[in-house]
Amino acid sequence: MSGVEHSDVIVVGAGTAGLAAASALVRAGKSVTVLERKPYVGGRAYSYEHPALGETVDSQHVLLGCCTNLIELCEQAGTAKKIRWYDEQTFLEPNGNASTIVTSDLPAPFHFAPSFLSMSMLGWKDKVGLARGLMDFFRGYPAEDTESVEHWLKRTKQTELSIRHFWGPIVMATLNDRLSHCSTRYAGKVFHELFVKSSIGGRLGIPTVPLSEFYAAEARMIEAFGGTVRLRSSVEGLVQERDGRWRANTADGAYMADAIILALPFEQTQKLLPAVRMNEEYARGYEEAKDDLELKMARQIHSPYTSILLWYDREITDLDHAWLLDTTIEWFFHKSRIRRYAREKGSYVEVVIAGSRAQLGMTREEILSSALRELEMFFPEVRRAKLVKSGVLKEARATFSVTTGLDQFRPKQTTEWPGLFLAGDWTATEWPSTMEGGVRSGRLAAGAVVGDAMRFMAPETPASGLMRWLSRE
Ligand SMILES: Cc1cc2nc3c(=O)[nH]c(=O)nc-3n(C[C@H](O)[C@H](O)[C@H](O)COP(=O)(O)OP(=O)(O)OC[C@H]3O[C@@H](n4cnc5c(N)ncnc54)[C@H](O)[C@@H]3O)c2cc1C
Repeated sequence: MSGVEHSDVIVVGAGTAGLAAASALVRAGKSVTVLERKPYVGGRAYSYEHPALGETVDSQHVLLGCCTNLIELCEQAGTAKKIRWYDEQTFLEPNGNASTIVTSDLPAPFHFAPSFLSMSMLGWKDKVGLARGLMDFFRGYPAEDTESVEHWLKRTKQTELSIRHFWGPIVMATLNDRLSHCSTRYAGKVFHELFVKSSIGGRLGIPTVPLSEFYAAEARMIEAFGGTVRLRSSVEGLVQERDGRWRANTADGAYMADAIILALPFEQTQKLLPAVRMNEEYARGYEEAKDDLELKMARQIHSPYTSILLWYDREITDLDHAWLLDTTIEWFFHKSRIRRYAREKGSYVEVVIAGSRAQLGMTREEILSSALRELEMFFPEVRRAKLVKSGVLKEARATFSVTTGLDQFRPKQTTEWPGLFLAGDWTATEWPSTMEGGVRSGRLAAGAVVGDAMRFMAPETPASGLMRWLSRE
């Protein structure tokens, strides 16, 4: 490329945050250029051709009924029909016991009551404690993020079994970190949205196609509205020109715009910040504001995630997905069933270890053999089936952790520097590290660009049943 390309807004990064920001702005009539350093869009929600396996692989990403902005974005891009929705969830114990949570016709907040009462994975004492615990999030969730989930569980005297079979798995799956790290504010939000507020907030949605294919439609939508998406374009420096406009420099060219949105994870924002050059008018205030942002980023920590991918010569169960209790592997996705592959092709399965710090130091063989041993306990057919191929995906920087006290260190989407905006799941969204958090941050940044912060935000899931009168929100 030669010369400088001009547009109204440059978006750096084509993860969920960048795609959401760019989609909102092109739909509002702005000209937008998205610069993404990888050869595909989707960011951490990506899939790729695994050379050794000869398969397109990804770490399964799920969404929930309360992810209203992500769902709306998918509807706009035409990918909503590529999400399979489940109202039923199965919890398996290694001894063969299965408990199912399914939405009933009772009005919220009682929609899960019949399932909870019949769950064999918990005793009566556990269930009474659980009901009492959920009452804490009846009207909403805590405004402060100072208490850890571990502390809350002790304070509300939750039983050891309910922590092992309910609270722990839900927190690990949604916040991707251990109970002692996560704040009750975010766990409370999850419990309120999924189990109390409405009968649709806790529905489980699973994309039925590989993730980069899923998000490619968002990129096509941006282009259909006149935007440009440039892949393999890593931004290496940002310069604010004399007239206040911004120039983004990549290895093969320069791009100019009135505004720029950095839709990056915090560690990539941290890397790029020293390569930002302000014009003279703003240079003075820049250093101080930069120090403040750097301090905020220094408070963020990552939490890892490990996926074990398995291909069997036959179907090992007729379940599409399940929670796996009391083992290192925590979740099971039957990808060949979710994606409706022909049964004769056998089972393509993913098992997941959330918050997998211990696995970072283990070899792939160690992780695989332990996962296979554990999987047999839940699905005896695994012993008879032939494992055709397998892979282990370790993501050391999968998510940021919603540690206690983090909220004050999540920056807003507007910055001290005119025309420079931040997005990314880690910025202030009131959501944990999720695709919905990414989309919200992108839409908030797009709103800030047009001077109307909430303009692009979808409405929250409405409270249903009795919660229409009882919910605070
Ligand atoms: C294994 C795994 C499992 C997960 N499971 C779930 C789940 O089930 N449900 C859920 O909701 N969330 C899940 N998440 C979290 C979710 O993926 C993230 O919260 C979300 O995708 C963050 O989006 P983002 O746009 O903020 O950041 P990112 O997705 O990280 O996007 C940032 C983009 O910026 C690009 N970039 C970086 N530097 C530059 C540069 N200098 N120039 C140009 N481009 C650059 C990157 O290549 C990337 O594409 C999971 C994450 C992982 C890794």
